[in-house]
Amino acid sequence: MAVEIATDYRMFIDGAPAESEGGAWFDVRSPATGELVGRVPAGTPADVDRAVVVARAAFRDGRWRSMGMPDRVAIMNRLGDLIDERADELARLETLQTGTAYKLRRDSDFAFASDNLRFFATQIRHLEGKAAAEYSGNHTSMIRREPLGVVGQVAPWNYPMWMAIWKIGPALAAGNSIVLKPASATPITTIRLAELALEAGVPAGVFNVVTGPGNTVGARLAAHEDVDLISLTGDTATGKQIQALAAGNLKRVHLELGGKAPFIVCADADLEAAARGATAGALINGGQDCTAATRAYVHRSLYGAFLARTAELFDAVRVGDPFDPSTDLGTLISKGQVDRVEGFVQRAVAAGGRVVAGGLRPDVPGFPDGAFYRPTIVADVAQDSEIVQDEVFGPVLAVLPFDTIEEALEKANDTRYGLAASIWTRDVFTAMEAARTLDFGHVQVNDHLMVTSEMPHGGFKQSGSGKDMSSYSFEEYTRVKHVMIELTGEPEKDWHYTIFGDKPTG
Ligand code: NAD
Repeated sequence: MAVEIATDYRMFIDGAPAESEGGAWFDVRSPATGELVGRVPAGTPADVDRAVVVARAAFRDGRWRSMGMPDRVAIMNRLGDLIDERADELARLETLQTGTAYKLRRDSDFAFASDNLRFFATQIRHLEGKAAAEYSGNHTSMIRREPLGVVGQVAPWNYPMWMAIWKIGPALAAGNSIVLKPASATPITTIRLAELALEAGVPAGVFNVVTGPGNTVGARLAAHEDVDLISLTGDTATGKQIQALAAGNLKRVHLELGGKAPFIVCADADLEAAARGATAGALINGGQDCTAATRAYVHRSLYGAFLARTAELFDAVRVGDPFDPSTDLGTLISKGQVDRVEGFVQRAVAAGGRVVAGGLRPDVPGFPDGAFYRPTIVADVAQDSEIVQDEVFGPVLAVLPFDTIEEALEKANDTRYGLAASIWTRDVFTAMEAARTLDFGHVQVNDHLMVTSEMPHGGFKQSGSGKDMSSYSFEEYTRVKHVMIELTGEPEKDWHYTIFGDKPTG
C-alpha cells in the first residue's frame, strides 16, 4: 500500500495550527513500508509554556467551564458524531502510523471511542457529592465539584487516538483546559482530534496539542508549575519519572501504566472458549495492549490440549498488509519493537522454554521493511523468568501449568503489575474466590479484553493509579470544595473562649 500524500501536520494551540518556535520537524513513518506518512513539529519546552498560557487563559475566562450544560453536552456528543463520520479517514491514518490491521482500528477503536465521549457527555449533568445540610448545627454545608484548571496529558502509541479520547473525555466533561502530548510515533490522529473538537464547538484554547519528544516536551508538561494535573498512559518507567517531575508543585498525578495480565484456565473450563479467548487476548493490537493476556496458567489436566488448540489458532492468524481486509495482524510499532520482542523469545528458549507457535519474523511479500512478527507461544517457562515477569508488548503468550487453584492465584499475583486478569471456569465459587483474590484493577470471568464506558479501567501496584472511563475517571478531573455558611449571625460563638476570653457561665 503506497502512502499517497505525505502532509505536514501542525500542533494545535489556541484553536489554530501552530509550528514549533524552534522551527524543527520530525518524520512519522509507516512501520509497514517505511514510507513518510507526515511531518510534525518537533516541539520544545517553550511550546509547552505557550500552550499552558493559552489553556490557563481559556480556563480563567470560563469560555468552556461556564458554558451552559446543555451546550457542553451537545458539543461533546457532536464530537462523537464527527468521529463516527470521519472514522474511515481516522482509521486509515491510525493504520498508517501504527501498521496494525485496519479492521481493528476501524471496527474496534473508532466504534468505541465515540461511545466513550458520549458517556462523558452524560457526566456533565451528574455532579455528585454529599447532600447539603446543617452538619454543625449552625451552618449549612455544601459541596461544590469544580474542574481542576489546566491538565497536562501524555499519550502512548499503541491506541493513539483512543487513549487520547480516554483522557480528553473526562477532562472536558469536568470543564478543564487541556494540553496533550501524543507519542512521537503516532501524533497525527490526535492533531486531527483537536481539529474536530474545534469543529464540534469546543472553544479555542481549551484543547491544545503539543508534539515532540517525551523527555523534553512531556517532561516540561509534567513539571510545569501552572499545570494542575498530569496524566500519563505509558510505560511504568515513564510513570515513575513523571511522578517525580510532578512533585515540584504537587500537582495531581494520574498514571495508566504497564500490565502483565494473567489468564487462568481451570480444569473445568470450556477449552475451546479459553483457547479462542487466549488467542484474541494475547494478539489484540499485536499484543501491544496493556491488558493483553500475556501469561496463561493452565491446569495440568488441560495443559497439552490447550497448547495444541491455541497453537493451531495462533498459526492460522494471517499476518500481512495492514490494509488488506483479510489481514488479522499487521506490524508492530517499529523494527526496534520487533527486536525487543524477539529478544524476549530467544532468551526464554535459551532458558529452557519451548516455542509451540511462531517465534519468527515472517516474510511478507511486498513489505521487505515491515516490522512483522509471527504470533508466538512459549511453553514451559519459569515463573521467575523475564518473559513471565516483564512486559514484552508483542504477540507473545507464555504458558505455564498449575496443579491447584491456590497455586494459580498466587502465581498470577506474583508480579509488580496489577492492571487486568481473567479466569476461565464454570464453577461460581472458584470464580468468586478469584475475583476476591486477584490483585488487579479489572478481573474478568470467562472473557478477556472487554471494557465498557461505564466501568473503570485502571491498575493497582506498578500499573499505576487512577481510573480511565466511568464516573471514577470524571471525578479525578474534578476537585471537591466544602462551602460552609454561618446561619445565626451571632458575633460571639460559644467556642470562641477556647481561643480568647473566658468560658461563658450559665
Ligand atoms: P512510553 O512511556 O514510552 O511513552 C508514553 C508517552 O510518554 C509518550 O508520549 C512519550 O513521548 C512520553 N514520555 C516518555 N518519556 C517521558 C518523560 N520522561 N516525561 C514525560 N513524558 C514522557 O510508553 P509507550 O511505549 O508509548 O506505550 C506503551 C506503554 O503504555 C506500555 O507500557 C503499555 O502497557 C502502556 N499502556 C498502558 C495503558 C493503561 O491503560 N494502563 C494503556 C495503553 C498503554
